[in-house]
Amino acid sequence: MCPICPHACALVEGQTGLCRARVAEGGEVVDANYGRITSLALDPIEKKPLARFRPGSKVLSVGSYGCNLRCPFCQNASIACAGERDVPWREIAPAELVDAAASLVTEGNIGSPSPTTSRSWASSSSATPRTSPTSVAWSTCWYPTAT
Ligand code: SF4
Repeated sequence: MCPICPHACALVEGQTGLCRARVAEGGEVVDANYGRITSLALDPIEKKPLARFRPGSKVLSVGSYGCNLRCPFCQNASIACAGERDVPWREIAPAELVDAAASLVTEGNIGSPSPTTSRSWASSSSATPRTSPTSVAWSTCWYPTAT
């Protein structure tokens, strides 16, 4: 059973969860979208659901396919509700993301948000040594259950 969110998908080997981002593999449920990036863009911080956090700054937005929510108003549904064969993606290593975020500091970048369903990739990126930027906003949807 996947421990990440309350859907608690009980998956058999090779089966993908409701989120379309996690799959049962080798007896555990892993991020099928690990490091698979569908979008990477430098956005104004005001575009994020962060109230009054560093106004006027920018943040490197990172996205992948798959999501554990099905919000009817989702502006990213074509990607969020997609699976690995539905949208183009490319692999980016955690260190590569950190380098990209750091290279954009001069353009106002203060950090990088990461998707809920690629938890291990987000953790790897956050743990990669760096000098700047220092902020990481993790898009949890107020939802993950595992620590
Ligand atoms: S993260 Fe995905 S696979 Fe895991 S319980 Fe939630 S919807 Fe299911």
